Amino acid sequence: MKTKLGLLYGGKSAEHEVSLQTAMAVIKALDLEKFDIYPIYITKEGAWVKGPQLTAPVENVEELAFPNGSQVAPLSLQKANETNEDGYDVLFPLLHGPNGEDGTVQGMFELLNLPYVGNGVLASSAGMDKVIMKNIFAQAGLPQVKYTWLIRSEWEANREEVYNQVEAELGYPNFVKPANLGSSVGISKCSNREELEKAFVEAFQFDRKIIIEEGVTAREIEIGVLGNDHPACSVAGEIISGKDFYDYTAKYTDGKSTMVIPGDVTEEQYAELSKMAITAFKSLDCSGLVRADFFLTKEGDFYINEVNTMPGFTPFSMFPLLWKHTGVEYPVLIEKLVQLAQERYEEKQ
Ligand code: ATP
Ligand code: MG
Ligand code: MG
Ligand code: MG
Repeated sequence: MKTKLGLLYGGKSAEHEVSLQTAMAVIKALDLEKFDIYPIYITKEGAWVKGPQLTAPVENVEELAFPNGSQVAPLSLQKANETNEDGYDVLFPLLHGPNGEDGTVQGMFELLNLPYVGNGVLASSAGMDKVIMKNIFAQAGLPQVKYTWLIRSEWEANREEVYNQVEAELGYPNFVKPANLGSSVGISKCSNREELEKAFVEAFQFDRKIIIEEGVTAREIEIGVLGNDHPACSVAGEIISGKDFYDYTAKYTDGKSTMVIPGDVTEEQYAELSKMAITAFKSLDCSGLVRADFFLTKEGDFYINEVNTMPGFTPFSMFPLLWKHTGVEYPVLIEKLVQLAQERYEEKQ
């Protein structure tokens, strides 16, 4: 029996194009002897369009971006069974950021009783909100940089006082970030009051809640975690951004950042890192996968920065490359994630 796999991609998000690239790569990697692939495209406007079953890899992304209104079958999301030919065995959301990585889509799958790849509702939503995530990490005893947070109305009520407090608590440099986002969108590094004021305006454009962190000078080390109840760690990798920090353009456009895999860490450092990554994974009750991001200071101290519950997933993204270097090739990684989704679903029944 082949596995009927529904691939969700696109989305009403800044990462729409990246998601299409990911979908194309995942389709190419899937073994058609084992999987029936059903594309579900979410347009930039947020419409859900179900395409025809794919019987061969697609050559360009246009073939996956079905126009609104072109669906070949009514979009009903159901579990496949003997009486229901139209259903799916597993859904794979290849979506990042709000509405994809934040628990909303996951909640819908739960309500529809559908197995799905990756993190559940709680881990996804807690992982999306950097403040909630850091509070949980703090309780789990994970070392982090100092941080504070506030909502827009608190800032609007008394901006001067807010700036004074941030300066007193965290000093400079500091980082201002929207609480619920990724890909460095809306993030600024601030070295003085003027930059701080600009950074608040910028971050509040993306969220009603922001987080401000003490800035550290550190190497950036990342590690992949894969599994459910017994998660495993990949080798560590290092990001060298070639810029002041790893901002949006360094990630996607200027090509100046490089990934070093495996990263240059000692055996003891790797042991410490992987232990922290597993603690982070468990503290948020994660399942399937996360990419855990760390800072490593000159003094040799590790701080956890964040976990990403649906990390970049093209074959050239950090998470798949970390696993490739660990001995898990891209097609095997995808199959493993589908299998983990099915195991978690079965366990709940
Ligand atoms: P992504 O999900 O794409 O990894 P993100 O939008 O969740 O990114 P962060 O990872 O929190 O954002 O931060 C983006 C980058 O900004 C980091 O990779 C790092 O280069 C820099 N940075 C963030 N916070 C700090 C900090 N406290 N000190 C020093 N550098 C920081
Ligand atoms: Mg992130
Ligand atoms: Mg990050
Ligand atoms: Mg995140």
